[in-house]
Amino acid sequence: MLDVIVIGAGMAGITAARNLTQASLSVAVLEARDRIGGRIMTVDDFCEGPVEGGAEFVHGLNAATLPEVRAAGLALRGSPQMRRTAFNLGGGTRWLPIACMHPGTWACAGMRGKIARSEPPDLSAREFMDKHGYKGRGRMLTEMTFLQHLPGSADDVGVLGLVDDGVLDLQTRFNNRIVTGYSSLPRALAKDLDIRLGNQVESVVWNAQKVTVRLKGGEELHARALISTLPIGVLKSEAVRFDPPLPESKKWALAQMEMGPITKILMRFDRRFWPRWMEMAASASGAVNLYWAVFRNVKDRSAALTGYCIGPRATKLSAESDDREIEIVMDDLRRMFPKADPQRALVDYRLVNWAKDPFAGGGYSFLRPGGRGAREALRATDTGAVFWAGAGTESRPVSELVETAYLSGLRAAGEVAQFLKAQ
Ligand SMILES: Cc1cc2nc3c(=O)[nH]c(=O)nc-3n(C[C@H](O)[C@H](O)[C@H](O)COP(=O)(O)OP(=O)(O)OC[C@H]3O[C@@H](n4cnc5c(N)ncnc54)[C@H](O)[C@@H]3O)c2cc1C
Repeated sequence: MLDVIVIGAGMAGITAARNLTQASLSVAVLEARDRIGGRIMTVDDFCEGPVEGGAEFVHGLNAATLPEVRAAGLALRGSPQMRRTAFNLGGGTRWLPIACMHPGTWACAGMRGKIARSEPPDLSAREFMDKHGYKGRGRMLTEMTFLQHLPGSADDVGVLGLVDDGVLDLQTRFNNRIVTGYSSLPRALAKDLDIRLGNQVESVVWNAQKVTVRLKGGEELHARALISTLPIGVLKSEAVRFDPPLPESKKWALAQMEMGPITKILMRFDRRFWPRWMEMAASASGAVNLYWAVFRNVKDRSAALTGYCIGPRATKLSAESDDREIEIVMDDLRRMFPKADPQRALVDYRLVNWAKDPFAGGGYSFLRPGGRGAREALRATDTGAVFWAGAGTESRPVSELVETAYLSGLRAAGEVAQFLKAQ
């Protein structure tokens, strides 16, 4: 019998396993994929430098993962998005401060403060915008504040959940990329751990003292405790069966969360057709929410753009064939940069659709209106020998980041260590 089984070799699972292994416990990490990292997935065979199919940025200069990045000797490259962002609110694509000089945007001055000070009862993003009478460009900017990061519609996203999840804070952080690719970080942390790839968990039988895990293929493993780092999309799909079933409080928590679709469009061009200073270009309408220049400040690298298509726009785009999807994206880029011919400049592309990934079930989760408290309910230690980690189990400092997954792994490892000591 093992001391601990961890389900999932993403950032949360690897962090938890490393801490428990260092405490001299016997720990096995069961991972369905043939690789570690989960929603961190660096693509090394697309252009001369690494590009990210999943997580890309280390958000903030105080991110809890930065000491690990430094300890692993990984170099960072800054991505100053606030200073180098262009906005398209219909018409031209302009540097953000210039886009905000349009009188149509002034009506939403103070909007971020109003969102931050919201009180119960909770509203959807749409109800909030209606209540405050936002129209025209002011409404577009407000909607972008709600939906630029969260992959839901204005009806699905709850205002109090967005505030609790720290999303407003995320939008003003300074970001970095890991030069050798984000996957270098989980790889460094996973050294010497017992990680069993291709081990898809199908069911967990649990009580107050122990767990039995059954894998696809029939093998069974036993342990004194288990940490689930299953993404919210996988938990909601019930692809992993819990016996006895999870308590009502956990079912309530999962019903309050939505795992939204995200497609990343990786594109390589034979020339750069966007302004040299531009790091990001956000769009209020059109096929894709955001574009960013992957190697803006790096010499001798491909002219590469990533398209970030989330929520309803991702659902619409992914209903098309791959060929049609890229045609739509090229039309969208021509709308954003009317003097360019992106189609002619395109050399190669790759679509990474997280909604079609059975081991993620979407990009990441957000809280529906009325969902305040759901993440706390999900991570509560009320399921005997089963404990809960993963980026969707925490709101602090910002829900559903790599940093948050890391912190959840530390927290769950502490809970399990205490539980085993008391046994
Ligand atoms: C497109 C995209 C862009 C993002 N950008 C950023 C960013 O720039 N910065 C940032 O900080 N965060 C970003 N994120 C979020 C970040 O990637 C996640 O929050 C974080 O990686 C989640 O880690 P985790 O360990 O909680 O979950 P995961 O990484 O999803 O790990 C869970 C693991 O469980 C495994 N699993 C699933 N089902 C089973 C099963 N039945 N049996 C065994 N194993 C199973 C999965 O394969 C996976 O490896 C992004 C996410 C996406 C999708």
